[in-house]
Amino acid sequence: MTSAGRGKEGRKDEIAELARRRGFLWQAFEIYGGAAGFYDYGPLGAQLKRRIEEVWRDFYTRERFYEIETTNIVSREIFEASGHLESFADQAVVCKHCKSFFRVGENVNVSEKCPECGGELEAAGEFNLMFQTGIGVQKGESDERTQKKSEGYLRPETAQGIFLNFQRLLRFNRGKLPFGIIQIGKAYRNEISPRKSLIRLREFTMGEAEVFVDPREKNNHPRFEYVKDRMLRLVPAGEGEEEEKSVGEAVRSGIIANEYLGYHISKVGEFLERIGIPRDKLRFRQHRREEMAHYARDCWDAEFLSERYGWMEIVGVADRGDYDLSAHTSFSNVNMSVHAQGDAQGEAEPEKIIPHVIEPSYGIDRIFYALLESSLYEEQVGKEKRKVLRLKSEIAPIKAAVFPLLNRDELKKKAEEVFQKLRAASIFVEYDDSGSIGRRYRRQDEIGTPYCVTIDYETLEDDTVTIRERDTMKQVRVPMVEIKDVLA
Ligand code: AMP
Repeated sequence: MTSAGRGKEGRKDEIAELARRRGFLWQAFEIYGGAAGFYDYGPLGAQLKRRIEEVWRDFYTRERFYEIETTNIVSREIFEASGHLESFADQAVVCKHCKSFFRVGENVNVSEKCPECGGELEAAGEFNLMFQTGIGVQKGESDERTQKKSEGYLRPETAQGIFLNFQRLLRFNRGKLPFGIIQIGKAYRNEISPRKSLIRLREFTMGEAEVFVDPREKNNHPRFEYVKDRMLRLVPAGEGEEEEKSVGEAVRSGIIANEYLGYHISKVGEFLERIGIPRDKLRFRQHRREEMAHYARDCWDAEFLSERYGWMEIVGVADRGDYDLSAHTSFSNVNMSVHAQGDAQGEAEPEKIIPHVIEPSYGIDRIFYALLESSLYEEQVGKEKRKVLRLKSEIAPIKAAVFPLLNRDELKKKAEEVFQKLRAASIFVEYDDSGSIGRRYRRQDEIGTPYCVTIDYETLEDDTVTIRERDTMKQVRVPMVEIKDVLA
C-alpha cells in the first residue's frame, strides 16, 4: 500500500521531491526564482507525458477520429464570437492586508480570511483568463477591423481551432455526420492564483475531441451497444446522491442526457483506466447549472480522488449543443449548417441542421499528476524501504534498463550490445553501469521502469540474461534472443 501514516502534506512533498530529483518535473525559470503556474518537464517527465499523449491519440484514432493541429495564437474576433471575451472569467478576491489575489470558489470566499496571512478579503471583480498579445507591428492609427486583426489571444482551449475549420472538415468527411476530430496541444489561462503544482497551470496541455452529430441522432450512437454495460460511479447534479450505474441504465433513466454523451463519458473512463488511473479513485460528477461553462448545456467531469487535493477534475465531457457553430455562423456570416440526410424514403425535403458537439476535454498535466500520485508506493524490503512507481508498462518512460552486473569491460561491452539491439527494435531502454546493482534497481523502481536486464559472467558463456520484474522483484533467466519477446 501507499506509505501509511504520513500526512497529506508529507505525501505531496514526497511526490514533488521525487518528481524533481528524478527529472520528471521542474519549476520553470527556476534559476530566476520561478513563477507560479509554470512548470517544465524534465527528461523522464517529457517521456511519460508523451506516452500518455501517444496512447490517447491511439485510443481516439481507433475510434476513427482524425487529428488536426491549429494555431495557438488566435485573433480577437474568434473569441468575440465564441463568447470567451465576455464570459471566460473568474471572480477574484484580494486580501486587504497582504494584497494576495485568490480565485473565488476554489478555496476562498469573500466572507473568509486570507489563506496566506489571515487578513480581511474583499471582492476584486471579474478577471478574464485569456492572455492577450499583439499580432504584427502595432500601428498607431487604424480602422476598427485592422485593430481587431492585430489583437491576439493565446487560446484558452484547443476546441475553437476545430470549430473554425468545420466546413473543411465536413467536406473532408464527404459531407456526412457524425464525425470526430481530435487536437492535442497547449492551452493558456492566466489563472488568478495557481498554487497547486500541475493542477492549476497557466500553460498546460489539453487533449480535446469534438464529435459533430446530427441533433436528431443524439440518442442513436452506432456503437452504444459496446459500452452500455460499463459501470460508472456517477454524481448527478441536483440531489447529488452518488450512485453506481451502467452507462445504458444511466441514459435510459435520463441521468445522462443522451447516448452520445453516455458513450463518450464511458470512453473517458475506459481511457483513464487503460493508462492506470485506479477505478476506485474515479467518478463522474455532473455540473450544477451555475458552474457550467457559457457554451455548455450539460457537463460531466471525470474526477480523480487525490490524497492531497480531494476530488479533482481531470477531464470534462461537455454537450456544447450548437453553441459554437451557431455563434461562428452569425459572427463570420459563413453558414455552418449541414444538409441532413433525408428520411429513409428520401421523400422529405433535405433539412438543414446545425450539428451538435459532444466534447471530451482532457487535462494531460492533471492526468500526469494523478498517475504519479496513484502509482507511488513505498514498501519494506528487508531492512530497507523501497519506493516504486507502479506505472503501467505501456506508459512507463523507460521500458527496461540494461546493466552489466559488475563494472568490468567485458560485461560492459556485452551490456552495451544488448542495449543497442533493444534500441534498434524501438524499445526505449536505458543503460546504467554506475553504483551497486542494488542501487541501480532502486533508481529504476523509483522511475517506474518495469524491467531490468542484467548481464553477468554466465551471459558470456551461454548467452542468457536475468530479467527482473519491478513489482514482484522476481527474476528469471532467459536466453538473450528472447529478451525482446519477454519485454513485449
Ligand atoms: P475545461 O475546459 O475548463 O473543462 O478544462 C478541461 C480540462 O483541462 C480540465 O478537466 C482539466 O483537466 C484541464 N485544465 C483546465 N484548467 C487547467 C489549468 N489551469 N491547469 C491545468 N489543467 C487545467
